[in-house]
Amino acid sequence: MIEEFKGVEVDKLIYTLVALHEVTVEIASNSDLLNALTKLLHMIKGTVQTAKGAFLHYAPLKLVLDSVISRGIDHELHWKINKMEVGKMIATDMPLTLPELQAMCPELIARNGADFGKWGFEIAVPLSCRGELQGVLLPGEKLDRSPYSPADRQLLAMLGRQVSVALYNFRLVDDLKKTVDKLRKQRYEIGAMTYGLQDMAQLSNDLATIIDLDQLPQAIVDGACRNISSSKGVLVTIDADHKTCTVKALKNISELKIGDVIPLDNSYFSRTIVLGEMQRGPMEKPLLNISGRFVVTVPIKDKDDVIAILGCFDKERDVNGQFTQTDEAILLTLSSQASTSWMRARYYDQATIDGLTRLYVRRFLEQRLGEETRKAQRQSSFLSVLMLDIDHFKKFNDSYGHQTGDEVIRMVAAQVRQNCRQGIDLPARYGGEELTVVMPDTDTEGAMQLAERIRHGIETMALSGPKGEKLNVTISIGVSTFPQHASSKDELIEKADIALYRSKRGGRNRCSAYVEE
Ligand code: GH3
Ligand code: MG
Ligand code: MG
Repeated sequence: MIEEFKGVEVDKLIYTLVALHEVTVEIASNSDLLNALTKLLHMIKGTVQTAKGAFLHYAPLKLVLDSVISRGIDHELHWKINKMEVGKMIATDMPLTLPELQAMCPELIARNGADFGKWGFEIAVPLSCRGELQGVLLPGEKLDRSPYSPADRQLLAMLGRQVSVALYNFRLVDDLKKTVDKLRKQRYEIGAMTYGLQDMAQLSNDLATIIDLDQLPQAIVDGACRNISSSKGVLVTIDADHKTCTVKALKNISELKIGDVIPLDNSYFSRTIVLGEMQRGPMEKPLLNISGRFVVTVPIKDKDDVIAILGCFDKERDVNGQFTQTDEAILLTLSSQASTSWMRARYYDQATIDGLTRLYVRRFLEQRLGEETRKAQRQSSFLSVLMLDIDHFKKFNDSYGHQTGDEVIRMVAAQVRQNCRQGIDLPARYGGEELTVVMPDTDTEGAMQLAERIRHGIETMALSGPKGEKLNVTISIGVSTFPQHASSKDELIEKADIALYRSKRGGRNRCSAYVEE
């Protein structure tokens, strides 16, 4: 028999050791501390024959001992304890009888002594490990009301030491778990943010390079939805009267189509215009015919004027579809980026696109023609130029007025654009009612085919005057090609012009390639 346990009944010792093993294993392996402590209290009943008891947990920041679990005591214990008393408890490795505790910490007993009397606590087992107080175990009076024997105290001392170590380890593991969880969460957030930042950087780059006002709205909507995981998005431009808006880009919205004109009503959208700031909130009813649960809108501005609004609806994987503060911050950045890009695209548009025909202006065409001629020279490829003039155009102006004349020019331009290869051919308004198309990588035969398609398209176009009169519009075309007809951009234009006048002389409504005369 170990010296320490002299006088302890063997049965009791074995019971205690087995039970103690179970409790410490429970504390060590289980995250449910309360359950393990309940077992502990149950165990001391078998060990020292008491039906009552409490475990007071020490909270170092609050300097209190609080009962977290008790048996036979229907009252919460809440003892204030000072640092000196904590120190003394840590230094004690044996259970303390009430008189011993009183001698050691008189003030503690003065403050909380009533609880001892009330619940018959006779003995206190301080639980500490590695210089840290875990708490105090308070076994109640024994069932036979006899005082605690030295053997009982030995058992409680052993029990206290073991439980202290288990509790200490539990706390360490618990702290570690919490730290790991916190780190994991932080890593996730940092990861998500880094990912978001990369995506954002990519988007600003994309927006900065888009110069085409027709492509920009869709790029803004797609980029916004991707960056903030928005289920749907819309971009509208504000019409001049500020009462309606026009749909320019959509994502996952079937209720609308591009070009729809919608009243602005009194909604998040109209508030965005008036206040010039982001608006956000839950949706009680559809906005601009779009249904959803949550909306956030940001303005796109020309200086202080709101010219367009980006609206994002319903965050993915959120019960309420609500966007986070990070999402809003991203949208704000995006809105100012989009404003800058929009302005730049608009200036570019104004400088390069003709207002009436939406074709390139002559200055831009000449610049591009220079580049294309150099490219054709370098690559030894063909380059054709088509010059187009409306036949007897003056009569439309004279008979029906300039507005009809303008409409004729616009319709002819639309036909030209429709027949061009998107992104390859360069259709332009050369001046008045003369249009030009620059066709890279195209020989005379290819250019004549396009010319003929345009001519035929216009001849068969249904157009009417202000009083419904049928307008017969025809055009004449001249074609020249690098390198056989010309070796410079000016010469290409000149030869196309000569070919055009051949068509005019030949009776109009026809296409001619340049020929040496
Ligand atoms: P032709 O078949 O020989 O080309 O005869 P035409 O009457 O078309 O003669 P021309 O090409 O010389 O006529 C150009 C006219 O187009 C002169 C001008 O009054 C008119 N014009 C030029 N620009 C515009 C415009 O932007 N709008 C309108 N309505 N008329 C324009
Ligand atoms: Mg003309
Ligand atoms: Mg003409």
